[in-house]
Formats: sequence, structure tokens, C-alpha cells
Amino acid sequence: MNIILLGPPGAGKGTQSDFLAETYKLTKLATGDMLRAAVKAGTPIGLKAKAVMEAGQLVSDDIMIGIIRDAIAQAPGGFILDGFPRTTAQAAALDEMLHSEGLKLNHVIELKVDDAALVARISGRYSCARCGAGYHDTFRTPVVDGVCDACGSTEFSRRADDKAETVAKRLEAYHAQTAPIIPYYRDRGTLKTVDGMADIADVTRQITAILG
Ligand code: AMP
Repeated sequence: MNIILLGPPGAGKGTQSDFLAETYKLTKLATGDMLRAAVKAGTPIGLKAKAVMEAGQLVSDDIMIGIIRDAIAQAPGGFILDGFPRTTAQAAALDEMLHSEGLKLNHVIELKVDDAALVARISGRYSCARCGAGYHDTFRTPVVDGVCDACGSTEFSRRADDKAETVAKRLEAYHAQTAPIIPYYRDRGTLKTVDGMADIADVTRQITAILG
């Protein structure tokens, strides 16, 4: 099964795709995570992407399409895309790639969330510095204060681009460059929309009802 999770930054794509990857045994392909790893490792792609990401803008289509082409080749059992495609050029390139590999998209799921809620969600989020488990100051605190539920680490980090001013730029980029891919998939009959304003468990239920 091959799935795309679409939606603005902070819509819950990362949280839901972790769950879906585990439940349906899919490879999670999160382009933001891949780019952050490239920045951390100081690779040529990371060096190019760093300033663009910190400005809340989109990394070039050429770079992103290259990354996904390689990643899909290594996900033979099915994948869940989180953060790709983000432009209509990326969506068209993905169609081409899948076609040439004899693969198809089974589901494109949009998480719909109001902009005001997104700002509150993003500005409070952080993750475990060791295992990457996601938390939020208000909505998802660890069971024991300051200790990661998943791995017991006491080190946490916040993303550089989760600052309020950068979040505004990321939302602008979403509306201008990414939202146009929603009609692209709607026209192909593959799009389903879920209410991303609901709580995490309820969004998971909505998605699993679609996937069956
Ligand atoms: P995310 O973790 O998905 O919010 O992505 C973080 C940042 O990485 C974005 O704000 C973009 O700068 C960059 N990025 C991630 N995926 C893409 C993509 N498909 N196209 C362009 N830029 C991307």
C-alpha cells in the first residue's frame, strides 16, 4: 500500500504517519526528517537546504524529487509519504516515477486544520533528542515530566523553523505552493479529507477507517 499524507505544517502528519508505518508495516518517507538529517550530517544537500529551511521556504523541486526517487526504490513493501509532494511539479514527478516502477498510489489523505490552531500546535512542539519521539508543551507531555516515554532520555530539542515568525512563512508557502496539489489529487479521485482538528486518536480512527 502506498499513501500520501497531505496537510499544512503542524497538521499531525508526522504523528499519524509514525502510527500508520508501524501498523501497516510501511516505510515512512518524511522529507523534512531527511533534510534535517542531511543538514546535521553536513552533506552537500544539507548545506544547500539549511538556509532555505530556516527561512520557512521550500527546497528546490530538483533536490526533493531526487531524494524521493532514491527513497521509493528502497521501500518495496509500500510507503507513506509525509511532506512530499509539496508542489504540483513534485506531484507530477511522483506520478511519473510510480508509473515507471509499475506502482500506484492507493490513498491520498488530507489533514484539514485551521491556521490559528496550527500556530499553537507548532510553537509548543518538541522532540526527544535521542529517539525523536514527539511531544507538545500543552497537548502531549511525557508521562514523567522531563523524561521521554519511549526511550527514557532527558534530552529534548526544538526545531529551528518552529519559531513563530518562521511558522508564518511556512504557512504562506503551504497556501501558495502546496495547497494547489489538493485539487490535483481530487481530480484523480484519490483524495480523502479528514478533520485534523480532532484529537490524535480520533484522527487515527478517521484514517484507519479510510485505509480499511
Ligand atoms: P517538514 O518537516 O515537513 O515541516 O519540513 C521542514 C522543511 O523542509 C520545510 O519547511 C521545507 O523547507 C523543507 N521541505 C520538506 N519537504 C519538502 C518538499 N517536499 N519540498 C520542498 N521543501 C521541503
